Amino acid sequence: MNITRIPAFTDNYFWLLSSKNNHFATIVDPGDSKPVLNTLQNEHLILESILVTHHHNDHIGGINDLKKVFPKCIVYGPDDKRIPTDICVNDNEELNLENIGAKFRVIEVPGHTSSHIAYYFDKKLFCGDTLFSCGCGRLFEGTPEQMHDSLEKIQNLPDDTLVYCAHEYTLDNIGFAKIVDPLNDLLIEKEKKVIELRDQNIPTVPSILKEEKLINPFLRYKDKVIMESVANHYKKEISNSIEVFHHTRMWKDTEYD
Ligand SMILES: [Zn+2]
Repeated sequence: MNITRIPAFTDNYFWLLSSKNNHFATIVDPGDSKPVLNTLQNEHLILESILVTHHHNDHIGGINDLKKVFPKCIVYGPDDKRIPTDICVNDNEELNLENIGAKFRVIEVPGHTSSHIAYYFDKKLFCGDTLFSCGCGRLFEGTPEQMHDSLEKIQNLPDDTLVYCAHEYTLDNIGFAKIVDPLNDLLIEKEKKVIELRDQNIPTVPSILKEEKLINPFLRYKDKVIMESVANHYKKEISNSIEVFHHTRMWKDTEYD
């Protein structure tokens, strides 16, 4: 399977998956049709399906126009009236896209939105706005507990899973991660690498789950370092992992972004 990154808007990535044996393709979260249509045309591909992670417009805004050009294209997504799905998929469901040669597992990951899902196949995770490199999505609709549990599900995937998130937020996320976790050498190293890449306009994603577990403060809610940092900042005892996550998120939302 080929995976092509389509940059869009200021910092979105749409992921285009296509078979090496035929001309079929599927796109994850097409927020805009134009860059997708350009890529499909350049690579002589037929769009057979669309995978949606959640209802935000920068993830679904291109669907209608793509369906005008490819009327047979099937839209898969969570059960949510705000998304123009043809077929709803649920937690743990297997989604077999034979033409692309991919059998995805659907993972429900509520938190950023109430009906957010992720698609997992062959150690590749397409997780929309749930997990970013060095960060996670804001809690627009879900509770801290839901997001904590969603991130826990992701952490249970194999360490060498590649995380295909939907935004290039890494450098900004590292800025906050360094405040929570200032003595983490891996984070400082990562920042150097990311600055080098971004200076050349090279994307920093997909990231590797194993590395995220070491540098992403939003995955380290059970780690003493993060726990103590958050407790010191809020000047109270915080020991429960959901509360650690909740306070880390609040810290970024109220004092950083
Ligand atoms: Zn979103």
